[in-house]
Amino acid sequence: MQVFTLQDQNRLARVSPLRTELAQAIDSNQDTVLSDTEIFDYVQHDGCRGHHPNGDEEALVSEFKHSLIGRPNPVAEGYHSYESVASELAQLEQDYPNLCQRVSLGKTAEGRDIWALRISEDVQSENTGKKPGVVITGCHHAREWMSVEIPMHVAHEAVTKYGSDEASTQRLKDGEIWIIPIANPDGYAHSRTSDNMWRKNRRPVGNDAMGAPTKAVGVDLNRNYWDGTQDHFQLYRPAGDTPSSTWDDFSATSDNPRKDTYRGPQGASETETQVLMDLAIGHKNIRGVLNHHSYGNMILHPWGVTSKPSDRQDMYVDIGTKMNTAMENSFTLQSSADLYPASGDSDDVAHVNNLVPFTLEVGRSFQPDPSSIGPMCDKVGRANLVFVDEILARAKAGTLPERV
Ligand SMILES: [Zn+2]
Repeated sequence: MQVFTLQDQNRLARVSPLRTELAQAIDSNQDTVLSDTEIFDYVQHDGCRGHHPNGDEEALVSEFKHSLIGRPNPVAEGYHSYESVASELAQLEQDYPNLCQRVSLGKTAEGRDIWALRISEDVQSENTGKKPGVVITGCHHAREWMSVEIPMHVAHEAVTKYGSDEASTQRLKDGEIWIIPIANPDGYAHSRTSDNMWRKNRRPVGNDAMGAPTKAVGVDLNRNYWDGTQDHFQLYRPAGDTPSSTWDDFSATSDNPRKDTYRGPQGASETETQVLMDLAIGHKNIRGVLNHHSYGNMILHPWGVTSKPSDRQDMYVDIGTKMNTAMENSFTLQSSADLYPASGDSDDVAHVNNLVPFTLEVGRSFQPDPSSIGPMCDKVGRANLVFVDEILARAKAGTLPERV
């Protein structure tokens, strides 16, 4: 029996009677009050839960149902855990001490290290930090599991092919590559064991932007970016969007601590965003940043906050087109705002600091069957290497924006 319609997009919010009713029905194998098609419609179109095109209905409905009934998604076994990422990076350092170092960028609210692998020929020499560098990240958003696998694949490829493959060897002679497979370790661990659709980090918010106490947990790390410069504050909080109201919230960004897209009490309030900015903006040899998210099979470039073309549109289209060529043009190249405008976006802050940022939205759901990990890593890994080589070649030619 169809009781509800999907007109009210908030009815399936984290605390709602419909959600409880749906969970109980799924759990006891009864007919649910919503059909799978309606659930898919909700997952596809609600701003908090993806808002991406090209979704895989079967996978997304299954992912959403696991979250509703509070059981782990069994496909987790096919993906790296936080612990296995940490130990593999340690093993790479042990096996290739001249080529890579495992570095902790900082500790999360729950005490996990935010691990990075720093890769370069003769990595421990002082010269390494003077080479042009790139930063590659995965998993700002906890539930986007494939976004962990691709940076791990690129890390292995970069290190193990040195010495046997000419381009791989040259890459590590010329450049410095920082790989952070899990930018959001607490959220990732939570999504694997407790709520597979969790998106934010896991820091108890404490007080909201108005100083009011809240029991809400977690900040959307990719709405939290701000470099501390007053000139750039509107990238974090656009004009007209006040901390005191959620009615004036800018597009897919929220001041409600209970929302999946909560921007945090202040810009850069979160350790995870701070350490990534310290790395990419703080080190003047870093020239490019490549962030992995899911889903949608898209290559996104600035701006995120406005659909106006940026002053570097031509460069973004040129580099993005080459990355797409390496993937048989299977991705769509567009600006982030053309997907949906958002503030506090990592790539906008990188852009105004004269870095070259891209975001890859990979796959057609958050947690696709593990059988797709290998082919996706091969394909998107090629685009990663094209990105690195483009940045290094342009740094050499002096055609990148001057770092400030
Ligand atoms: Zn994401």
